[in-house]
Amino acid sequence: MLKLPETAAAAAERAASLRAELRRHEHLYYALARPEVSDAEYDALSRELLAIEERWPELVTPDSPTRRVGGAPVDGLPNVRHEVPLLSLENAYSEAELDAWLTRVTDRLDGRLPEVVCELKIDGLSISLVYEEGVLVRGATRGDGTTGEDVTPNVRTIRVLPLRLPEGAPRLLEVRGEVYLGKSSFQALNAAREEAGEPLFANPRNAAAGSLRLLDSRETARRRLSVFLYSVARWEGDRAPATQEEALGALARLGLPVNPHHAVARSGAEVKAFLAEWREKRHTLDLETDGAVLKVSPVSDQQRLGATAKFPRWALAYKFPAEEATTRVTAIVVQVGRTGVLTPVAEFEPVLLAGSTVRRATLHNYEDLSRKDVRVGDTVAVEKAGDVIPKVTRVLLEKRPPEAVPFEMPAACPECGEAVVREEGEVAVRCVSGSCPAQVKEAIRHYVARRAMDVEGLGEERVDQLLAAGLIADVAGLYALRAEHLAALERWGEKSAANVLAEIERSKEAGLARLLFGLGIRHVGEKTGRLLARRFGAMEALAAATEEELTAVPEIGPETSRSVRDWFGLPANVRLLSKLSEAGVRMNEPEGAIAPGGPLSGMTFVLTGTLPRRTREEATAAIERAGGKVSGSVSRKTAAVVAGEEAGSKLEKARALGVPVWSEDDLERAIGGGR
Ligand code: NAD
Repeated sequence: MLKLPETAAAAAERAASLRAELRRHEHLYYALARPEVSDAEYDALSRELLAIEERWPELVTPDSPTRRVGGAPVDGLPNVRHEVPLLSLENAYSEAELDAWLTRVTDRLDGRLPEVVCELKIDGLSISLVYEEGVLVRGATRGDGTTGEDVTPNVRTIRVLPLRLPEGAPRLLEVRGEVYLGKSSFQALNAAREEAGEPLFANPRNAAAGSLRLLDSRETARRRLSVFLYSVARWEGDRAPATQEEALGALARLGLPVNPHHAVARSGAEVKAFLAEWREKRHTLDLETDGAVLKVSPVSDQQRLGATAKFPRWALAYKFPAEEATTRVTAIVVQVGRTGVLTPVAEFEPVLLAGSTVRRATLHNYEDLSRKDVRVGDTVAVEKAGDVIPKVTRVLLEKRPPEAVPFEMPAACPECGEAVVREEGEVAVRCVSGSCPAQVKEAIRHYVARRAMDVEGLGEERVDQLLAAGLIADVAGLYALRAEHLAALERWGEKSAANVLAEIERSKEAGLARLLFGLGIRHVGEKTGRLLARRFGAMEALAAATEEELTAVPEIGPETSRSVRDWFGLPANVRLLSKLSEAGVRMNEPEGAIAPGGPLSGMTFVLTGTLPRRTREEATAAIERAGGKVSGSVSRKTAAVVAGEEAGSKLEKARALGVPVWSEDDLERAIGGGR
């Protein structure tokens, strides 16, 4: 099926371009957890390179992506060298490749096929855990197989993982496994990110990778990561398991989480039966699997088979075929989001894909759509990226009907009819009309959300009702609602009306940070809302802040500053704020949230190392003048560690706890420039 280049020169050129492309995808995938292509697309490129290297072995380079494991560790986390390297697995994509592996194993073991343990291949990221005297002392990612990243504080937040093993644990145990995020936790995480205006994760695997490698373990703890352990790398102590089957049993007895869905096969036919059983059934699990891992069970046979530089010869990852289906596009509709962004969505004839029926898939943005050139009437391939979000991968051009025309983004907003704009340097097309009903609706839903003003009882349907009945036109309208208005609506009783009104009343005290987030200012998520509230204390002060003052707030960049300035610059927004204020909505932080005084009020700092310009005493005095405190030890409550040259253990502790580390310049900006 694969077409190889015709000449050695053409092959060399193609190999070089494939390597460059694969490296780019690896960086996006491993270092940034933000892949641009699906794993199936990546695998196809990788197999093409492998085929070229097999045909022209002189083209192989030692650093070719086909020879290397994983990605290099990224900056920010300390590195760890693995005593026993963490290898990747050889892949098989068809029954023929599986048969070839079984034959190879049998041949190398003098015509005997040993027992093979069949496990599900969990789609997460590999982890190595070390227990010394039964205590979890280290967790590390695979990295490039030899050097990984130390993620011990983050691993400790995984609830299913025992921090201490029971009596009888070996002196030293290194186990390997897969950290993953359940499908339901993944969806909840993405829903929360969407609400907070943060970029979404492409799939649970990327979300797990991103979450495990955060610098702030408190944030990792919120992500609900889980883990299954599947192999013993080092066992120093009695009763070391002699087979993979025993290893799984031993780990489970030590209280370590082991996936119960595995089986021992005694023949190729039994291996295939396991694959057949799980091909569809895997979709019923709350975790993602992209195949099965087959492992020769007896450790003595594993040792005889050995390993190549990239993978052991005694194991094989059998990948289930990519979950792809083809269907016909019946319409391309355009949705308008809260920020006014127009998103094209393809609707198609329902197809069964990875265990569920899909009817529509987002086309992300106009650029994506025009690159793929999806047209109404086209037959398209739809893939579930990471089994969850359906995506149109390509158009089957040979099936395009002659009358199909390229899709054009509307020039006017489909909701309000106002002209749409496309800002320079941005892929998004947006509607900027403040009275666009789609945006008003989304704005209200965002305002009442739990993480914003937290008005319980106002779901999407009820917001729709209020808008349809003309009872509200913007978020300030909520505060003018009366019990008799609500009780008159369908499916509202007196009780629910009273409850919602009490919730609306309560929301007035939410405070500045939540209010700023709730107003849906572009780039102002939950965290930025808190930073701004902490720095400026009151809406008035924020409204008067210049762009420079905004950019001076640590962690606030020029884009956010500009967006905040633009927002306050619109008369409609100023009017909205005065309506909210008249209604009694609190425009500052409630008592206690922020102590009165300077820009560092309520914040505690720790100093370490030699600062370039100030002595310890001068720095302390400057922090105190700005309302902050200086403490001698780092804890989770520390706002930031200000580190200079030759910073020591306090810096390490800050990193371990995920406390921000500032330079003297950062401190300077936070104080507001003055010494
Ligand atoms: P792999 O995913 O093909 O398989 C090896 C890994 O499987 C092991 O390291 C281990 O972490 C995991 N695993 C899960 N369950 C297991 C079990 N029960 N027993 C043993 N191991 C188990 O290989 P890889 O080296 O981790 O990564 C390559 C994968 O990453 C490819 O599938 C590729 O598609 C994907 N990738 C994608 C992109 C992209 O841009 N989309 C870029 C780079 C890599």
